[in-house]
Amino acid sequence: MQRVPLSIHHLLERAGRLYPDSQIVSRRPDKSLVRHRYAEFYRRARGLAAALVAAGLRKGERVATLCWNHHAHLECYFGIPAAGGVMHTLNLRLSAEEIGWIAAHAEDRMLVVDDVLLPLYEQFRDRHRFERVIVVPFGGAPVEAAYTDYEQFIAVEAGGFAYVPHAEDDPVAMCYTSGTTGRPKGVVYSHRSTILHTLMANQPDHWGLAAKDSVLPATPMFHANCWGVPYACVMMGIKLIFPGPHLHPEDLLDLMDAERPTYALGVPTIWLSMLQLLEARPDRWRLPPGIRMLVGGAPVPEAMIRAYRRHGAQICHGWGMTEMSPLGTISYVKPELQHLPEEERYPYFAMAGVPAPIMDLRIAGEDGRERAWDGRSVGEVQVRGPFIAGSYHEVPHDPEKFTVDGWLRTGDVATMDPHGYLRITDRMKDLIKSGGEWISSVDMENLLMAHPAVAEAAVIAVPDPKWTERPLACVVLKPGQRATPEELRTHLASRFAKWQLPGRVEFLETIPRTSTGKFWKLRLREMFRG
Ligand code: ADP
Repeated sequence: MQRVPLSIHHLLERAGRLYPDSQIVSRRPDKSLVRHRYAEFYRRARGLAAALVAAGLRKGERVATLCWNHHAHLECYFGIPAAGGVMHTLNLRLSAEEIGWIAAHAEDRMLVVDDVLLPLYEQFRDRHRFERVIVVPFGGAPVEAAYTDYEQFIAVEAGGFAYVPHAEDDPVAMCYTSGTTGRPKGVVYSHRSTILHTLMANQPDHWGLAAKDSVLPATPMFHANCWGVPYACVMMGIKLIFPGPHLHPEDLLDLMDAERPTYALGVPTIWLSMLQLLEARPDRWRLPPGIRMLVGGAPVPEAMIRAYRRHGAQICHGWGMTEMSPLGTISYVKPELQHLPEEERYPYFAMAGVPAPIMDLRIAGEDGRERAWDGRSVGEVQVRGPFIAGSYHEVPHDPEKFTVDGWLRTGDVATMDPHGYLRITDRMKDLIKSGGEWISSVDMENLLMAHPAVAEAAVIAVPDPKWTERPLACVVLKPGQRATPEELRTHLASRFAKWQLPGRVEFLETIPRTSTGKFWKLRLREMFRG
């Protein structure tokens, strides 16, 4: 067979030639919609590449992006690597101090930034000097003379542009982990890892995206490659619907009404708040019938999967992490379970799913030995494969994150059932150990969120002189609903032993979120330490 290097340039060329009429819709800050055809996307991405080369970008250098989800960010996904550069997505929800530190650590040479995010850039500009700051006039205001106007920058004749030659292991993109423990670390993706991940993610039993689909990623393009959606959609010429900065449930539903996506992706917190809206105002809001949704990044409550089914949506649960490009498992009904009635399928949907092809997954106990796939034996999830990080940027050896035989330690604690369904029970740093026994915070949260009065729940460990740690439940009630701590404990007692029940239940207005929209347990632990 021919030894042709895997390359994401192939996806761009294919899109330009085969799908010129496919659409990219982006929502601007003023909520108006702007539409591009793939033919324009192709021309503009190559224009960006030609302009970056002309500006002196050398192979392997980083170009950072500080952008919402929109057409220009998509152009960066392909145009920066086409110039031989590495697209480094900066997470705009981090503090200015953290963003500056990350940009300096990655030695980003240039920056592409939304005009509406310039105030954020100005807060960290002293921490890292970019040679050139290219401003996307997304909000529509004229770009100041001190910066380069993205539209003018890319408006070059790129018809004869030649891709910068590369090997398949050369880097295309980079993303820092959120650094909840210690400083963030840079994960670098290659042409090869990206193509293999794209082919894997779009299997029929995974995303199964087809020409007739239109996709709304509520997953940020600034984190974990937007779960790989930009690559998969461009590969198959699929319509993309970008929400821009508007991620409130009303805005997403409104966009769904207008553009009728068939597929949407996001973390559970987004869909939990959307559910409240759907339930409170069925006269006003409806989901596009038959919409499929990939939900992951944090535990997905079974109650939420069931509720969405009642609204005509099908939720697919996935698990992964930045280091895994990011997809590791997807929940679908395996052949031997197809006979199950719908009701008995829900527990499988609520699990994190079956390992993706071309990667290996094992559950390792504290002694380092592999645990049985019996649905009971608990251990750390470890993974290995061609789209899984082997090291971090500037950290060639990290014994805490990699085993001696080279597997990535995910820090997630789980069981694997005999059918190969992974069930995440906790993150190692969120574990609750009470009286010498582990309590699964994820199981407890799931059951709490199945209570009719509960909108959201996060369970954390608080120190206890007698039991070492005790669970504390943080609960947000649905508007107009009531529940007492005692009622919630009785509800939990249906599946938890008495000693496992949370001693304290705290009712909150909202649960604090991390930069990627997950429940921020570290913050909760700080809040309730005393
Ligand atoms: P961070 O959460 O630190 O920002 P990532 O976005 O890489 O970093 O998140 C990866 C982590 O998210 C996983 O290690 C896991 O703890 C959690 N996670 C992802 N998907 C799921 C899921 N379906 N169920 C439970 N936890 C999940």
